Amino acid sequence: MDASDISGDLDHVLYTEQQIHDRLDALAAQIAVDYEDKDVLLVGVLKGAIMVMADLMRALPSSVPMDWMAVSSYGSGTKSSGVVRILKDLDTDIHDRHVLIVEDIIDSGLTLNWIRSNLLSRGPASLEICTLLRKPDAAKVAIECKYVGFDIPNEFVVGYGLDYDERYRNLRDIGTLAPHVYS
Ligand code: 5GP
Ligand code: MG
Ligand code: MG
Repeated sequence: MDASDISGDLDHVLYTEQQIHDRLDALAAQIAVDYEDKDVLLVGVLKGAIMVMADLMRALPSSVPMDWMAVSSYGSGTKSSGVVRILKDLDTDIHDRHVLIVEDIIDSGLTLNWIRSNLLSRGPASLEICTLLRKPDAAKVAIECKYVGFDIPNEFVVGYGLDYDERYRNLRDIGTLAPHVYS
């Protein structure tokens, strides 16, 4: 689905599919160098990270395994609380593995902070984070994130895996919604 297919629902496009791919190619090049002599395991967080994972891993020059976890974050309304429940755990034992978490977006950082602590308690050889988007103004906890696609303003975005009420994940670009969609 292209932005032109749902132009009535969108306020504006923030990043086009091409811009996203170019940025992920650059991140993949950096990751390839950093993990040149290490076997990396990519860990995605469902469901938002599906597109980032698909494009990032295909941009890597070597064969890499991936695994997924799904979590639910308890909170009031749309705000995340940092109280997290694992809905689907990893299939892989990450003890002594070089783990790279692949995320769509870091907003408050509370969810990812919890996931990070949880994975660290399993004794990985290393643990780094790659996120396509980050909202610096929304951060409630500081998370060291080695690979960041774009820092964005504190507004709600959809597309490229990111949803509003499970919709818009299949939009190729990333954009903000028009106010009438929310009401
Ligand atoms: P955090 O715990 O960092 O506040 O929130 C993390 C999760 O909230 C993200 O993985 C994502 O699922 C959701 N989220 C945060 N900001 C946005 C946004 O701007 N758009 C969408 N669609 N989801 C978001
Ligand atoms: Mg996510
Ligand atoms: Mg969501």
